[in-house]
Amino acid sequence: MKQNKFVWLLAALVACVVAWWVPQQEQSVHAAEQTYTIGTDTTFSPFAFTNKKNQSVGIDIDLLDAIAKKEGFKIQWKQLGFDGAVQALQAKQIDGVAAGMSITPERQKTFLFSHPYYKSGTYMAVKDQHIKDLKDLRGKKVAVKTGTTAADYANSMKKKYGFRVVTFDSDDNMYQDVLTGNTVACFEDKPVLQYAIANGIKLHLAKDFKEPDAGTYGFAFQKSEGALVKKVNAGLKALKLTASTPRSLPSTWGTVHRNHRPDVPRRKLSPTGVSSVSSRPTQAR
Ligand code: GLN
Repeated sequence: MKQNKFVWLLAALVACVVAWWVPQQEQSVHAAEQTYTIGTDTTFSPFAFTNKKNQSVGIDIDLLDAIAKKEGFKIQWKQLGFDGAVQALQAKQIDGVAAGMSITPERQKTFLFSHPYYKSGTYMAVKDQHIKDLKDLRGKKVAVKTGTTAADYANSMKKKYGFRVVTFDSDDNMYQDVLTGNTVACFEDKPVLQYAIANGIKLHLAKDFKEPDAGTYGFAFQKSEGALVKKVNAGLKALKLTASTPRSLPSTWGTVHRNHRPDVPRRKLSPTGVSSVSSRPTQAR
């Protein structure tokens, strides 16, 4: 009888331990496999764009993938375009945005940002180099991408300098509009314009344009994702990436993707070495 009692006690103890241990294990497995849905841009090279195999690639994708691996979470990438990604985050349909997103006080009211990892500012690009600055835009039209800080900048200047702003859903369509001459300039983040020009897009940085105060890029998340943002910041720290190490990023992470060429007419060296323009049909992105 005494022995019976002991067995029952032992069984109860084992049951208690199992009851405590199993959920712990499930929890840690669950935590290790937690997947977050992250929205990204489709034409913002070299930071976030869609390649010919329809995969999201770029500095931001490499960066957050590396952080996820280090910090033990998974990412499901969603190719939404910049404005689409920001809207989806606002509507709480996705967990975060990684797309060269500038940290602004306005956005900080709605989203939780990681620490900054890159310093970048708006610039003006033109096809005709006689257009050197904002003052040359009077009576003309300029192109911007919907929902960007560059679009905000152009809109804040249009009245003073007397130009009109036309919006596009992608960088490729924006460049194309300037190249065909409908608009005379576009506004976009400087490293993105530089990358496009380096890849043969027949645009030029406007000669006399004075760069407005540069901002920084961060990854944006739902306000409720404090724990995730902590992990992302720990990952950024481990990778030694801060906005004060700005210019080293594209040359290290960006070279992996140097084969990406935005999908618009570009310079092509003919066998004679003379520049000509090649045009490819625009891909649905
Ligand atoms: N940095 C700009 C912004 O946050 C543009 C981002 C983008 O187009 N992907 O508005």
